[in-house]
Amino acid sequence: MKNPKTVNNEKHALIVCDMLNDFVLKGAPLEVTRARAIVANIKREIIKSRKKHIPVIYCCDGHRPADPEFSLWPKHAVKGTAGAQVIDELKPHKNDHMITKPSYSCFYKTTLDKLLKQLGITHVVLTGVATNICILYTVAEASMRGYKVIVPENCVAALSQRDHQFALQQMKRVFQVEIV
Ligand code: ZN
Repeated sequence: MKNPKTVNNEKHALIVCDMLNDFVLKGAPLEVTRARAIVANIKREIIKSRKKHIPVIYCCDGHRPADPEFSLWPKHAVKGTAGAQVIDELKPHKNDHMITKPSYSCFYKTTLDKLLKQLGITHVVLTGVATNICILYTVAEASMRGYKVIVPENCVAALSQRDHQFALQQMKRVFQVEIV
């Protein structure tokens, strides 16, 4: 007979993507106005996760001053600037994990996959901005790597409600993401 403790091998991690000053603060260079409405919800998820010893992983843009991304978007989250810092309300704790990313996906040219494997993670809960950009491409990469993905609807936001809804639909239809 199997030991019941070994039957359920699910292990969750919480990812907080791009909740940075340059995206969230009023008047920020790449302001996602709706991001301010999800701060309290993400905070609740973070507190809940820390209590349950679920790893909290912050994945944050960290651009070079002349990053090619700035031909499309206003200059934002330049490495070492205040704009690239996580907003005060969601400040990381010392046991949380910090990952800097150079582009949209939290996996692209980062150590996220390695970290998730080291921690034995099977399920990732994704929160942050923007639903149709960094979140969507992270969902895609996580799914293709075999992770189960859960997205709490009230913990993600986009520049427009249309982009937000479109992305949630794509996640459900294409990647079987659990939208909660
Ligand atoms: Zn960026």
